[in-house]
Amino acid sequence: RVLSAEEKNPAENSFNAALRPQSLSECIGQENVREKLRIAVEAANKRDEPLEHILFYGPPGLGKTTFANIIAREMNAAIRVTSGPALAKQGDIMGLLSNVNTGDIVFIDEIHRLNSAVEEFIYPAMEDFKVDFTVDSGLHAKTINFPLKRFTLIGATTRAGLLSSPLRSRFGMLYHLEYYKVEELAEIVSRSADMLGLKGSDEAIRLIAARSRRTPRIANRLLKRVRDYAQVKGTGELTTEIVNKSLEMERIDSCGLDRLDRSFLRSLISVYGGGPAGIEALAATLGEERDTLEDVVEPYLLQEGFLRRTKRGREATPFAYSHLGISPQAPNNQ
Ligand code: ADP
Repeated sequence: RVLSAEEKNPAENSFNAALRPQSLSECIGQENVREKLRIAVEAANKRDEPLEHILFYGPPGLGKTTFANIIAREMNAAIRVTSGPALAKQGDIMGLLSNVNTGDIVFIDEIHRLNSAVEEFIYPAMEDFKVDFTVDSGLHAKTINFPLKRFTLIGATTRAGLLSSPLRSRFGMLYHLEYYKVEELAEIVSRSADMLGLKGSDEAIRLIAARSRRTPRIANRLLKRVRDYAQVKGTGELTTEIVNKSLEMERIDSCGLDRLDRSFLRSLISVYGGGPAGIEALAATLGEERDTLEDVVEPYLLQEGFLRRTKRGREATPFAYSHLGISPQAPNNQ
């Protein structure tokens, strides 16, 4: 997964972990997913069976890891956390799966980044709870059939389309996490502020929510920035003035767009005449990874109506022009 510098930072991770809801009822939003999960968990618990394998997909920061942890807690199961890139060899996944107990949850983040050898190794593990492990090579090669305990695999990916269809079809439940509504984010920010012992007006909380790219992780991150600003420049309380000033410093605009979102739209408009432009070309112009643009930047711009995707490429919408204050007739005069 494409992580921002802040997300890679351990302090940021522990901050996120502290604010993570601990149960389905503590979660805010994603009603549909929560209801389906609640039923699946209750049914599995009643039958005293492990849950089916689950795939969560959706943009970063919407709660995939949070839901995996909550499921483990509600199933009273241990969770083993790993990621696609960390499982480089069959031996890595073998080591993990041979140690699981019945009902344990194995969480694989960025599951679309598993290499094909490891992926194929996982198929029989998911389907029949066994693995065929080859030891030695050449003449001495031997295949050992190794039975596994019944576990639940929870995979997370930014886009379900990135998964091969054999892997996708082995998940019993597929859940798409959607962007949150501003009111839901306001609830999340308010809950986080309470947990951090911060006081603030409803308006200030709502302002943070409205600028959070409809993403809980960003909402919590902005809250942290605003808290710092309030403590240094104010009395510690969150007011609209404090929020506005600190988000201005963070270069988050009134629609929640950050520097990269705006550079993306500006390049599309000034370099490619508003499009259509291919994603590779845009990535090269911006000096950014294509994955970052496709997983992080574009979904939000599409959802908010700044961008259109056509067969010929990406196009900026009139809303993008007006938001950036660029006239469609003279795109180079920014
Ligand atoms: P993902 O795995 O999709 O990238 P995470 O599960 O790590 O996202 O979520 C990021 C942070 O957002 C969590 O630490 C948590 O504090 C917050 N969060 C996510 N989903 C919710 C939710 N439904 N309600 C409240 N907070 C949430």
